[in-house]
Amino acid sequence: MSGSRPPLRDDLALMDGYHSPQLDVPVRLNTNEAPEPPPDGFTEALAAALEGIAWNRYPDRSASALRAAIAAAEGEGLPVGIDADQVVVANGSNEVLQTLCLTYGGPGRTAVTFEPTYALHSHIARIAGTRVHSGARAEDFTLDLGEVERVLMSQRPAITFVCSPNNPTGGAESPETIRAVLAMVEEVGGLLVVDEAYGQFSAHSALELLDDDRPLVVTRTFSKTWSAAALRLGHAIGPRWLGEDTSGVLLPYHLDAVKQVAGRIALRFAAEMRERVAHLTEERGRVATALEGLEVDSWPSEANYILFRPRAVEGAELWQRLVDRGVLVRNCASWPGLEGCLRVTIGNPGENTAFLGALAASLA
Ligand SMILES: *Cc1c(COP(=O)(O)O)cnc(C)c1O
Repeated sequence: MSGSRPPLRDDLALMDGYHSPQLDVPVRLNTNEAPEPPPDGFTEALAAALEGIAWNRYPDRSASALRAAIAAAEGEGLPVGIDADQVVVANGSNEVLQTLCLTYGGPGRTAVTFEPTYALHSHIARIAGTRVHSGARAEDFTLDLGEVERVLMSQRPAITFVCSPNNPTGGAESPETIRAVLAMVEEVGGLLVVDEAYGQFSAHSALELLDDDRPLVVTRTFSKTWSAAALRLGHAIGPRWLGEDTSGVLLPYHLDAVKQVAGRIALRFAAEMRERVAHLTEERGRVATALEGLEVDSWPSEANYILFRPRAVEGAELWQRLVDRGVLVRNCASWPGLEGCLRVTIGNPGENTAFLGALAASLA
């Protein structure tokens, strides 16, 4: 025996953590946050609402007012609206994903991802004791339905993750592809989780496929388009049985009173959110066009980031050169399937111009 530090869970000891290094540089374009805070009206209304909180009491355990507000906001424009009882909320969509894994995954069960994709899908599944099998995306990073069928029929996963728009590659799946994957998931008796953290940037959403008879759950977050990463609030929208199923693993009163009221207030500023998305989309176009004139390959994006790969420099070397010029982007260069790639978040116009200048200088 050496010391009194207890051993980690065996399967945890083998796992790599999730790291997104933060550096103190002037231009941080590495975590896909919104560059602008929510409108002043948000902070003012939140400050006023704090006075109404019954601090000595536990919050509304079912967060019903927040869930109703999310249902109304997300259901807008859909042929069939969304009901509050189709919505599950948690502390960020990562906790939503963890809740789904604890509910439908776990020991003896398999979750499937199609790589390269959001690293936390496989990481969270493993933390929840779920075996992970990774299929591959096509060369252009879209889903290859032949591969999806091969993987699903052989693995018969309890959970299939699809990120659309996909992080970090940027592309979104067509409604036809999502429908085809869903049909296969139904055939193997699993759950399809479509991660739409960047859904408002995309022309399509799987929300329109939701139905109580379909094993489909869509996850979204306040961290990106809603400019509220600090809030740590995310949600899942699915069939009406989702709330009942997940109630067994969610901790009692897991969502605090401040968050419940802040989420409702954030949703009042939907018009401003759409304006920010439109503005970022325009800026994304400007950055994408500028990248075409440089010695890099880049991929089309339907989100607030662009994946690119330098042609004549190592990705890791370029990442360092950008840091040296005060610009932090995400270094994906060593990720499987993304050799030499970097991902830049679309910031405000000044930040994007600074990035493009630093990039041109770093490539020279
Ligand atoms: C950023 C991101 C999330 C957000 O997670 P939160 O816990 O809500 O901040 C979820 N999924 C993807 C693909 C993301 O890129």
